[in-house]
Amino acid sequence: MGILSTEQLIHGLKNGRPIAPFSIQDEIIEQYIKLIKLKRMNLKTDSQEAKLLAMHLREPLDFVRQEKRLALSQCEIYVLPLPLCMAYAEASGKNPIIVIASGFIDLVANAIFAAHLQSILPQELNSYYLFKYRKDMPASNLLTNAIFLLQLHFYRFCKPLPNIYALATPQMFEESKLAINGALLFTLLHELGHHKLKHLEFSNNIRPIHYPLALEENLSILQHQEMEADTFALNCLIEPAKIIGTYWQQNAVNFFLQIELVSGNYSDKNHPMAINRSFYSDTLRNNWGKEYEVAPRPKFFRNIANRYLATKESKSEEMNALIQTTREGCLNILNEINETLLQFGIDLKPIWTTPAPNWLTIKGS
Ligand SMILES: [Zn+2]
Repeated sequence: MGILSTEQLIHGLKNGRPIAPFSIQDEIIEQYIKLIKLKRMNLKTDSQEAKLLAMHLREPLDFVRQEKRLALSQCEIYVLPLPLCMAYAEASGKNPIIVIASGFIDLVANAIFAAHLQSILPQELNSYYLFKYRKDMPASNLLTNAIFLLQLHFYRFCKPLPNIYALATPQMFEESKLAINGALLFTLLHELGHHKLKHLEFSNNIRPIHYPLALEENLSILQHQEMEADTFALNCLIEPAKIIGTYWQQNAVNFFLQIELVSGNYSDKNHPMAINRSFYSDTLRNNWGKEYEVAPRPKFFRNIANRYLATKESKSEEMNALIQTTREGCLNILNEINETLLQFGIDLKPIWTTPAPNWLTIKGS
């Protein structure tokens, strides 16, 4: 059994490479570091959370090549049971160390679930407008935006996540669990990549590769390493599973891609833009997919690149007004949408009135 000491944990939180672009508020991290110090908190590889994570990974692990599965099993994998959205590789000890926080796990799961939400909404919502808030956007879009913002409040300020599970049908679980657990596995393999490619030992250790990008970006050495770690993770998978692996990668970064689209803002400096990470994995998907008749989707990426540029170049405050909406503002919108939905026999209220369960503790997944 491995133990990550209080000191190592604090060092990791301060210096680890958070997977997330944009920013968790510094005060939030400081606040948790204080708590960790106070409680002399440490992490164990055989904690309840780590065991639950291993259980969730059982299915997607079947897609990993034997020798890489062995390499992953030689890592000390720690689950930090705090709502901080980060995952990082830590150099020290005799085994490679990977730390993944439950906040990251829950946010990825929640965002994948949220994508299913549209499918259970009544059509009428597409032509219903909330005049008090926005006259240009149907209620269905406002709902999606409000849910996204609640997730953003969780990410940046540790506010409660929307509880989309409250509305989940067994079918939604069935369709989402491999995507969620696959995204988690991808993240661990990405961190394994940082170890195996010796990124933590030699910060200059890169091969200059020209990566295909959706948006122009001069990749720094650290950003090159992130692309390398993504490539490593995808190459860990058995041949036919590499294509599904690109979806896992895209699910793992999708929430951050959404942040870029609504903020028109650059991601954190250690990572390439999520749009470009996603685009790069899609390029690989197209190459690998030739034998499997996978259709390239250049239009999709052209659209999101244009959306990003439009937000970035927009001079109006309106665009960024969305990302600045308070939690209370979101709840007002949601309550008003719900009044309409009740007429259709649908009640969304549990999404914001009941706490979201931890993905690791959800049974049957
Ligand atoms: Zn990384």
